[in-house]
Amino acid sequence: HVPVICVDGPTASGKGTLASRIAQRLGWHYLDSGALYRLTALAAVQSGLSLDAGHEAAIARMAERLPVRFDSERVWLDGVDVSDAIRTEAAGMNASRVSALPAVRAALVSLQHSFRALPGLVADGRDMGTVIFPDAPLKVYLTASAAQRAERRHRQLSAKGIATTIDGLRADLEARDARDSQRAVAPLVPAPDALLLDNSEQSIDQSVQLVLQWWED
Ligand code: C5P
Repeated sequence: HVPVICVDGPTASGKGTLASRIAQRLGWHYLDSGALYRLTALAAVQSGLSLDAGHEAAIARMAERLPVRFDSERVWLDGVDVSDAIRTEAAGMNASRVSALPAVRAALVSLQHSFRALPGLVADGRDMGTVIFPDAPLKVYLTASAAQRAERRHRQLSAKGIATTIDGLRADLEARDARDSQRAVAPLVPAPDALLLDNSEQSIDQSVQLVLQWWED
């Protein structure tokens, strides 16, 4: 049986960094499930679809046949490198909109399951532990204060030369969290058996160490 470690949590909590480092340390596969929603939203926008329930069936059909390829650091959609295009704040907000559509979520289930391969998988997202891999032996729910998350995101974007304000980012991430927590399907909540990790005051190395320790125990 292939083991899975789930890392769920709100926007900009550091899930991606934590999950990919753990995968690296263990030599396991890594699934960035948020990227699948970001890619679906991008594909829908490129096809001229509005991201609402009116186009739910059409967007779900795109999600089911997403021509996606992940290679180390880059993501390709239909042969085009979209790694940067899917990382913008607008792309995150669009992902949040399509991810509230139940048919879209259903369409992405088998693709997510296909990442589960030996020797193991580390999966990050919102519903890894609650919906996609409910039998995972280790589930981590990662949080950090909204102020910390906005500040970190601001630093990341500044490093890329993208000008933003901390207040604007904080408003955006709180709006996204509200939508993700209040939607009818797979809302953002910790799995009942998740271990909570608040990394507001912790370095990434400390968090990695802690999760690896949980895994060994
Ligand atoms: O994690 P990331 O910020 O890339 O995710 C983008 C959006 O995709 C989230 O705001 C959320 O709405 C959605 N998502 C989801 N379920 C997941 C992963 C992401 O609904 N497992």
